[in-house]
Amino acid sequence: MKEFIEANHQPMLELIESLVNIDSGSYLKSGIDRVGEVLAEEYKMIGFYTEVHEQERFGNNLVIRHPEAKTPKIVMIAHLDTVFPEGTAEKRPFHVADDLAHGPGVIDMKASHATALFAIKALMNSGSEAYKNVVLVLNTDEEIGSVASRNLIERIAADKKYALILEPAQNGQLVSERKGGGKYFLNVFGKSAHAGIEPENGASAIEELARKILKLHALSEPEKGITINVGLIKGGASVNTIAPFAEAGIDLRIQTPEDGERLDRAIKEICSYTETPGTTVELTGHITRPAWVMTEESRRLIDIIAEEGAKLGMSLKHEKSGGGSDANLTAHIGIPSIDGLGPVGGNAHQETEYLVVSSLTERTLLLANVIERLSGG
Ligand SMILES: [Zn+2]
Repeated sequence: MKEFIEANHQPMLELIESLVNIDSGSYLKSGIDRVGEVLAEEYKMIGFYTEVHEQERFGNNLVIRHPEAKTPKIVMIAHLDTVFPEGTAEKRPFHVADDLAHGPGVIDMKASHATALFAIKALMNSGSEAYKNVVLVLNTDEEIGSVASRNLIERIAADKKYALILEPAQNGQLVSERKGGGKYFLNVFGKSAHAGIEPENGASAIEELARKILKLHALSEPEKGITINVGLIKGGASVNTIAPFAEAGIDLRIQTPEDGERLDRAIKEICSYTETPGTTVELTGHITRPAWVMTEESRRLIDIIAEEGAKLGMSLKHEKSGGGSDANLTAHIGIPSIDGLGPVGGNAHQETEYLVVSSLTERTLLLANVIERLSGG
């Protein structure tokens, strides 16, 4: 398979270039759908078919498999969206300098789509039938928490034995555990009044929100990996008006599912009453990604992948990541999961994001070998 993948180095880079040069920020439905169409066409050419799960607001989610893949055991998940707004690809299109490729989403995670496709092509080319053991889910809202694709991911993953998540490999590391998180939005309603003439007739939503922020931040226990951040606030009508309205966006990170439940309750408790007379509060939101902790079974999956890596001369380590991914979702429903199986690179979500071009071959080969091994080959 190695020769096949090496021989396809240029086509892989060209595919990555075409994907990077289409803006596909999570809210750019048309761009995401175009990226999906490019990939669906590639898979069609090798006999795979694509189920399109249409969505009105977000990009369409895709489920891709071979017609002979009757009971695949492996689900591979890769997202189509990026964090970059419209116009980014035009400003700084795909380009390669020495061994690094740049461009919006190049490592998170457009290059992963090339490694997935060419790993499957390499398997087919080698005469292996392991490609029939795989179903791919390409979702479109991972960067904003996979809220709209979560059901689909859980449904497809439910009867699988393994979930391979193709997020990039920071420094070549696999990811074996991830923090979980939640997002909440708090609206505070008060009563407006002139700040000079009749302040006593008003009820300040900002004052109440300020009290809430301090209480929420006090829930953080950094030594346990629990953090709460009120990262967005907005409110008030004018500087000389008692604020009739204020709102906040709240980010929660946790290390264990138990902490998740406990903190979810604590946030709801704090936002269930007010201390500023005349104000009311309204909280929405929930745990969007349950914390992912390693299990015996996922440990075995890591060992298998490390063994396959060792055969290729790679020394694969695994780490815990503070960020969430779709692995949190598959692990939560009990499927042995591994992440960081994409190509090597770094600085995700930044202008300086890069793909190590020379990692494409070995990471594609690793992925193909892992699929083959997990399929009993
Ligand atoms: Zn990603």
